[in-house]
Amino acid sequence: PGRSPGRFRIAVIPGDGIGKEVAPEGVRVVQAAAHRFGIELDVEWIEWASCDWYAAHGEMMPDDWKHRLQGVDAIYFGAVGWPATVPDHVSLWGSLLKFRREFDQYINLRPVRLFEGVPSPLAGRRPGEIDYLIVRENTEGEYTSAGGILFEGTERELVVQESIYTRIGADRVLSFAFETARARARRRLTVATKSNGVAIAMPWWDRRADDVGRRYPDVAMDKQHIDILSARFVLQPDRFDVVVATNLFGDILSDLGPATTGTIGLAPSANLNPERKHPSLFEPVHGSAPDIAGLGVANPMAMIWSGAMMLDFLTHGTGAGRAAHDAILAAIESVLRDGPRTRDLGGWASTLDVGREIAERVAEPM
Ligand code: ATP
Ligand code: MG
Repeated sequence: PGRSPGRFRIAVIPGDGIGKEVAPEGVRVVQAAAHRFGIELDVEWIEWASCDWYAAHGEMMPDDWKHRLQGVDAIYFGAVGWPATVPDHVSLWGSLLKFRREFDQYINLRPVRLFEGVPSPLAGRRPGEIDYLIVRENTEGEYTSAGGILFEGTERELVVQESIYTRIGADRVLSFAFETARARARRRLTVATKSNGVAIAMPWWDRRADDVGRRYPDVAMDKQHIDILSARFVLQPDRFDVVVATNLFGDILSDLGPATTGTIGLAPSANLNPERKHPSLFEPVHGSAPDIAGLGVANPMAMIWSGAMMLDFLTHGTGAGRAAHDAILAAIESVLRDGPRTRDLGGWASTLDVGREIAERVAEPM
């Protein structure tokens, strides 16, 4: 409110472990790109939503966290979790999952792209042959606590776990996926389903896709059962452009997809509230990686790419933010071709070396 259109407030939450190492590199690169393309960023560093904060305060976040974050335009998040001192369900439910729920971030977006210079576990795949976007529904479906166990402890044990979908919930993620596909060159949308097995919810989901799809005659939509779709992620990844899925299927696909492109240190993600009633959150797919934390060897590229997605989202996929996004991606590509590499990519460079090099190439393209 009252800010100029090219000016945004970003809350940076480094979190735990390598989150604290990759976040400064992400901010360095995002700032370089913002500067080059005339975007102004007010960056606030936040030390809560971390296990250090938990150790001192007995909770992951202050009580008024929502009030403190509600006014920012985006949350730029490193990683949370330090299982040696705080159980994952406490750290995760006390921070990230609260953001997702309370800020209604119902879209989880994961680009999947193979870069030159990064070996893929899929033999023979060349850059350009894997380049798609997974849109996962983030709030409904199988991830409910509705249900229970009957006759517990006996041989007759019977477990019921409900899945819950709503028309509003399905239509909004499907619309988002169609809009996203429409804005891309290939204009293809694949809808993940399992209507030959999940007898009530999935045929209904297919009908929602058909219904919403009528508004997008320019997008080529097809539906694929989740089993064959997973196989095709491995065997024919070049067939995909945008893929939309309900929560559980999307969860699985969004690990499988990035796995086919090499290192987890590259994979970015966005948790979006597309209406912008609440801040959206941008974070690498990887976790806090306690095994390498503190060594300065983490790959910052996933964090940096997530920052590019943030700039793009802030300016609605157009103008300066889109240009900043593309410049960051070009710099990552260029560094992967001939720049310093972290250990996960077979090199010896530090997190800082890679961050600085990308920032330099963003500021002054080679
Ligand atoms: P989650 O937090 O989702 O539960 P996790 O804790 O099992 O995941 P990560 O923290 O992502 O997993 O780490 C998985 C493996 O990948 C670890 O061996 C870690 O060192 C490695 N790894 C993760 N992120 C990076 C990175 N940015 N650079 C290099 N290696 C990484
Ligand atoms: Mg973890």
